[in-house]
Amino acid sequence: MHIVVLAGGIGGARFLAGVRAYARAVDAEVTAVVNVGDDVLMHGLRISPDLDSVMYALGGGADAERGWGRSDETWTVKGELAAYGAEPSWFGLGDRDIATHLVRTTMLNAGYPLSAVTEALCARWQPGVRLLPATDDRLETHVVCDLPDGGGQRAIHFQEWWVRYRGELPTHRFVFVGADAAKPAAGVPEALAAADVVLVAPSNPVVSIAPILAVPGLRDAVVGGRAPVVGVSPIIGGAPVRGMADKCLAAIGVGCDAASVGGLYGARTKDGILDGWLVDPVDADAEVPGVTVRATPLWMTDEEKTAAMVRTAVGLA
Ligand code: GDP
Ligand code: CA
Repeated sequence: MHIVVLAGGIGGARFLAGVRAYARAVDAEVTAVVNVGDDVLMHGLRISPDLDSVMYALGGGADAERGWGRSDETWTVKGELAAYGAEPSWFGLGDRDIATHLVRTTMLNAGYPLSAVTEALCARWQPGVRLLPATDDRLETHVVCDLPDGGGQRAIHFQEWWVRYRGELPTHRFVFVGADAAKPAAGVPEALAAADVVLVAPSNPVVSIAPILAVPGLRDAVVGGRAPVVGVSPIIGGAPVRGMADKCLAAIGVGCDAASVGGLYGARTKDGILDGWLVDPVDADAEVPGVTVRATPLWMTDEEKTAAMVRTAVGLA
């Protein structure tokens, strides 16, 4: 069996740990197609936050408490940059993490596509699943919002909106810059063609999953493929488990509840992507027109519980 997972960063990483455990038990192969909309250039370095979150988490190198970046991290470079007054000062890069960005940037500058760079980085981390960026082309999530102190309406990079302003600015919409012209990354069409099931991780639907599906050829391959598509709700009992999905959903006028997010993805039979939608038992009454909804515990508190959730998702498929 071949399982393809569409995933963002931290929620995606936790879910993938469960997918990996399930796949080991049933001898399945796993490909994760990861969001690159958060990718950004800082201090001349190419940073891929979601790919790194997944790679570090599955490779055993993530800082569990902070939730992002490397374990045993030190911050000497950050302090030195601050001493120069180098901007942006609101984005923290750890010393260990910087080594990853140096390797990535050097390889990209030498002409390797991001998919090949990711494979090279994973040779060290051995995440146990194949990690692919959604696209090798430039695709960045920008946020149209009102800047503070009468700064007016502007489009800023997602990282600035989230890390600098904590997602608290009046927000009008999200724009996936470059998406229209982007092609699926090398390996993605083949993985989707070989898939027996496509799972949508309980990642942020607006800024993690939507930018993946904004790559036209990728969306077409998911919708037109033979594999059933089952999504997992990141919203339990009307609130995101952690993170900012509530702020993002409010900005696009979608309710922060399991049924509304299922409706945002929509039924495959009605221009959407889903055949099945997993919700938590507290949301058991959620209905999504044209989609089979099933309730099962969705708290990813440990790998075993998450693997059980994956088993249910595959069963539904
Ligand atoms: P990011 O890119 O690092 O922001 O992470 P993702 O987009 O992959 O995941 C963020 C989403 O994961 C949030 O909307 C959370 O609600 C969701 N999430 C985190 N932990 C859990 C969990 O235990 N269960 C469920 N169902 N969702 C979770
Ligand atoms: Ca992210």
